[in-house]
Amino acid sequence: MKVITDVVCPFCGSLCDDLTVKVEDNVITDIQRACILGHNKIAGVCLHDRIESPMIRKDGELVEVSYEEAIEKAAEILANSKRNLSYGWASTSCEAVSKAIQLAEETGALIDSTANVCHGPTVLAVHEKGSPAASLGQVKNRADLVVFWGCNPVHAHPRHMSRYSTYARGFFTKKGRKARNIAVVDVRETDTAKLADKYVQVEPGGDYMLLCAIRSVINENEDVIPAEVAGIPKEEIIELATMLKEAKFSCIFYGMGTTQSRSKYKNGAAVSALLYDLNQYSKSVMIPMRGHYNVTGFGQVANWETGYPNAIDFNRKLAYYNPGETGASDVLLRGDVDSALIAAGDPGAHFAQEAVRCLAQIPLIQIDPYHNATTELADVVIPAAVVGVEVEGTAYRMDSIPLRMKKLIDTTFKSDEEIVTDLIEKVREIKGGA
Ligand code: SF4
Repeated sequence: MKVITDVVCPFCGSLCDDLTVKVEDNVITDIQRACILGHNKIAGVCLHDRIESPMIRKDGELVEVSYEEAIEKAAEILANSKRNLSYGWASTSCEAVSKAIQLAEETGALIDSTANVCHGPTVLAVHEKGSPAASLGQVKNRADLVVFWGCNPVHAHPRHMSRYSTYARGFFTKKGRKARNIAVVDVRETDTAKLADKYVQVEPGGDYMLLCAIRSVINENEDVIPAEVAGIPKEEIIELATMLKEAKFSCIFYGMGTTQSRSKYKNGAAVSALLYDLNQYSKSVMIPMRGHYNVTGFGQVANWETGYPNAIDFNRKLAYYNPGETGASDVLLRGDVDSALIAAGDPGAHFAQEAVRCLAQIPLIQIDPYHNATTELADVVIPAAVVGVEVEGTAYRMDSIPLRMKKLIDTTFKSDEEIVTDLIEKVREIKGGA
């Protein structure tokens, strides 16, 4: 029996790196310290809905073929495409992302990550106002006030509160939960809100107004605030602003409740502006609650290699970036792509109906370990190994800290990185290039 320690969980953006996994005869027999989501991901590698073999759609049915045949067919689609959409890449390694960007550049494709439908607006907010950040370690060791705004870690990041933010005992926060106040701002009383010292129920779409009102209190202009803002009485706004101003070190964790609601990226920009004000009195930072375990890594790699974090269009040979025009859902809604390569993402389940309709009408290649809604639309399906379980790789935590994920068991599936490397070679061969 093998006992593997310090295993990194490949599920959510918390990237818990303290798991212990036992392996016997290449089967995972025990997983310690993972939450139910991480446990199911790691244990489920051998259990759920794996894509067993490469497949190509023939006469409307997906039929099993060899890896070579599937890669040849996929490369033909890419080589003959005028503008391919390469989308997903949030649940795979940075090494695979790097290859995917190379493939997109060589085929004149548009590449985007799942941030398109989650924290994409955060990127725009950072462009506009910056992002006073910290590591989760600093939050654990120093934060005496944590605000969860538009996010629900009890369900989406189950160990976040015990490892980093709420109950964690740090150097200056030895009493754990007793050492810090917790505030939640959300449109409904979530299970996270039920654990908070202060819960503020904002009206849907009212986040921007509330942030502006809090800034007025911080800047001692509370006279301008009406009796109620975004459904919240003025007294409550003053109470929350005072908590922020009096904290020694506060962190605002913000989720899709802010990035995908009314005002979109302006909400993130307003959080950043609030921190600018707060940092004149105390220390305050912001961290996005990223969902897919390596969606942060996609942004990092894309930034190094192209200068842009997502929604990158190579159709004019140079990298061009203009979210709203070059986002994955933008081009699909305009019918502006003639093929798609979907990897480690499931737009079939998460995109708007019109965008899914466009995907159904164009040749679609899927690279994924598991069957999902996108498999039903795919013309070529290439199964991949699970990164962090069957192959190793690098991922970035939600606070942009890189961690090395381990290989726990052997597999016969190719990794995403190997599949994309094969695709690059085959496309070059078809195009008669290098
Ligand atoms: Fe895995 Fe996230 Fe659970 Fe940690 S909180 S064990 S990273 S799913």
